Amino acid sequence: MKIVALAGGVGGAKLAHGLAQILPPEDLTIIVNTGDDFEHLGLYISPDLDTVCYTLAGLANPETGWGRVGETWNTISNIEKLGGPNWFRLGDQDIATHLERTRRMKEGQSLSQITKDFCTAWEIKQTILPMSDSPVRTMVDTDEGELAFQEYFVHRHCEPRVKNFRFEGIEAAQPTSGALDALLSADAVIICPSNPWVSVDPILKIFPEIKKPMIAISPIIGGKTVKGPAAKMYAELGIEPSALAVEKHYRGLLSGFVLDTIDEELSKQMSVKTLVTNTLMNDYTDRARLAQDVLNFIRSL
Ligand code: GDP
Repeated sequence: MKIVALAGGVGGAKLAHGLAQILPPEDLTIIVNTGDDFEHLGLYISPDLDTVCYTLAGLANPETGWGRVGETWNTISNIEKLGGPNWFRLGDQDIATHLERTRRMKEGQSLSQITKDFCTAWEIKQTILPMSDSPVRTMVDTDEGELAFQEYFVHRHCEPRVKNFRFEGIEAAQPTSGALDALLSADAVIICPSNPWVSVDPILKIFPEIKKPMIAISPIIGGKTVKGPAAKMYAELGIEPSALAVEKHYRGLLSGFVLDTIDEELSKQMSVKTLVTNTLMNDYTDRARLAQDVLNFIRSL
């Protein structure tokens, strides 16, 4: 079964890793959000792409879910000592990724080509693709004005109240050709348990018509996020955060929805077939188990 997974960073990467433990590598393509990308210290940084790559390569820091395992912080500490910006934590190994990516981008290479080469270097057998090679920048409209995504997310710790989102460049952005091909040959598309507002919506806007059976997994469990601001965003936008809110978010697109056992009651109000299972991925076994449950669910649809 050929699967395309749509992913943001941490939540997306965990399920993608679970799928990678089960599916033959040629059957899994992961299309990753690039709306979080930005330039910092002169470097092109693609946080979601790196999180997915590091996770599939077994290089991710298991404690944070982002960044590299066994990381050191000499460069950022020295930048800080010189009075430079230190709010975006970049480890030494991670900086090598950004330096080399930036060098190649300046030569005119595309983000998807660079990602392909990095995946080969990291011995990742699955296909990981940025959603687009054109710049798309998520902007968060807040009660303190519009903020670039990383400014809101990392620098301001998601404190300003969210009013809206805007994806700068999305109208002009083309999907990567590899991603279009993968969607054409896919048997099903899985929306990973990523933030619907800022991780998944940009991807769905780039690929307006995905004519394949699509299922989503709730990133909200018991009204809360496992990590990150998705529940806070729902609440600030006047929507009660819940798995039901996520299902409504994707309504009209889905053939099935996966929610946690603690939210079982909500499945009665959903408009598509549901799978109720344990959706919390604390370790590698959980990731593979949830991925297997999701694949079985897709086969049953
Ligand atoms: P980010 O760009 O790093 O914030 O990455 P994502 O958008 O992919 O992931 C954030 C979302 O993943 C949050 O809404 C979390 O609630 C969700 N998430 C993280 N871990 C898990 C998990 O183990 N299970 C589920 N169901 N959701 C998770």
